[in-house]
Amino acid sequence: MLKEALRDLSDVLFPPRCRSCRIVAEELTNDLFCGTCEEKIHYLRAPLCPACGIPFAAYEGTDHLCGDCLTSPQPFTVARSIAACEGILLEAIHAFKYHYKTGLGAGLGKMLTRASQAGMDMQGYSLIMPVPLHVRRLRERGFNQSLVLAKLLAARHAIPLDFINLRRERDTPPQTMLGRKERQANIKGAFSVADKEKVRKQRVLLIDDVYTTGSTLAECARVLLKSGAAQVGVLTLARALKEA
Ligand SMILES: [Zn+2]
Ligand SMILES: [Zn+2]
Repeated sequence: MLKEALRDLSDVLFPPRCRSCRIVAEELTNDLFCGTCEEKIHYLRAPLCPACGIPFAAYEGTDHLCGDCLTSPQPFTVARSIAACEGILLEAIHAFKYHYKTGLGAGLGKMLTRASQAGMDMQGYSLIMPVPLHVRRLRERGFNQSLVLAKLLAARHAIPLDFINLRRERDTPPQTMLGRKERQANIKGAFSVADKEKVRKQRVLLIDDVYTTGSTLAECARVLLKSGAAQVGVLTLARALKEA
């Protein structure tokens, strides 16, 4: 009763507002966006590459491997993202990451739980691991955005969470300006597994906020597989799109 009364009071004092257009709205999707803004989010759907999850421009046909995955297969079994990394979603992720806004993490985490709709078989995983930040970055930012998302997903699907054993040993310069081969070289050796027993034979689901080039996630997957993981899947909230 008291809890409800408090919630009513807080709704009057701080009515729920859309995170994008700031309009007061009774219903916010994922506690984030009003109906009008929600419609601007580009949720990814088939046809897409079954390996790396890139959607194809034509909304017809069946899933098939993209050119990149045909020429150099990814170490992870599957990668899926909820939506395109653009517009209001990109703004929300930035606000969450760089100007930590209370509530945004919970909303974005909620959005990540649409994983099944994005074609992710959550039952197939025995362990959830967020992509780690280097300790220096972690100190700067105060939190790991991927861990916030991973925690919510793990709780929702009752899958164990391990945010200790995958470690970032080396802080690497931004990857965006580099070509594919350079990116791989840049990120090589950046991660390690502290206790290999903890990942041995596990079906690991790696979580990150954004899939940009995939090279960071691929390197994490390589290190986990080398440490004995049975398989590694990748789930990110957003995905940078290029023509496929
Ligand atoms: Zn809005
Ligand atoms: Zn692909």
